[in-house]
Amino acid sequence: MAPVVNATVESARRALAARLLSAGNDSAELDARLLVGAALGLDLTGMVTGAKRTLTQDEADRLEGLARRRLAGEPVARILGIKEFWGLPLHLTAATLVPRPDTETVVERALELLRADGAADRALRIADLGTGSGAILLALLSELPHAHGFGTDISTEALQTASRNAAEFGFADRATWIACDYGSALTGAFDLIVSNPPYIPSADIAGLAIEVRAHDPRAALDGGADGLDAYRALISQSAGLLTSGGFLVVEVGQGQSGDVEALMTASGLSPTGPPKADLGGVPRAVS
Ligand code: GLN
Repeated sequence: MAPVVNATVESARRALAARLLSAGNDSAELDARLLVGAALGLDLTGMVTGAKRTLTQDEADRLEGLARRRLAGEPVARILGIKEFWGLPLHLTAATLVPRPDTETVVERALELLRADGAADRALRIADLGTGSGAILLALLSELPHAHGFGTDISTEALQTASRNAAEFGFADRATWIACDYGSALTGAFDLIVSNPPYIPSADIAGLAIEVRAHDPRAALDGGADGLDAYRALISQSAGLLTSGGFLVVEVGQGQSGDVEALMTASGLSPTGPPKADLGGVPRAVS
């Protein structure tokens, strides 16, 4: 293929970043780097060492295709089919939410509680209700060498994705995937139950960014009229599934921590402390 005059890897990256920025993208530099890498099949090192290399017409065309998808509102994680969470590159499908950095707060809180209890090296049983790509559960399994994880989801496609991710990171024999609504099909007692359930009030979904509204599965977002439907179901289920001294840690949306704590108290669970805030200072993990 004939090279495109004047477009090097580096100049193409800069041009795309400028284009994304002027379209209002607030992660234009990072997005441009990831999209150039994907279009050209280059990792970070390859992009640096090949910065002055000229793009072929094929590469330029491929990059333009990806750029247009991003400009039309598709998140980079969807375009790549991969999102890193807790250092694990997770495969995504249309049935799974894109894991958010905020959700790492749930993992952090769960590990703090287990470690303070001296339980991190025990053969823990952990359940992740509405596991999606398996993000929270797999992050926990990566930190807790003797734990076994049970991930539930109403979407069998999501469970296939989670199972593929588990196999990829070498956790297949420590993870069990169960198709059900939150904890409805679980039996036995769990030392830790975690969940990032849908919590957006139904009426607010239309106002979300296009990246979320048009590309995340609605079932992973829509928490009913007041956003709390999933918590009502999963907190009362969890109260019957925890070991004595077991922990429940859930992600909440902005402004929901008080309501969710009240639901936990009403189910006979006692708060382990104030909610843990995410990096933006929003109370995010209630336990
Ligand atoms: N954190 C997601 C968002 O606001 C929502 C995910 C959820 O409802 N659990 O985009």
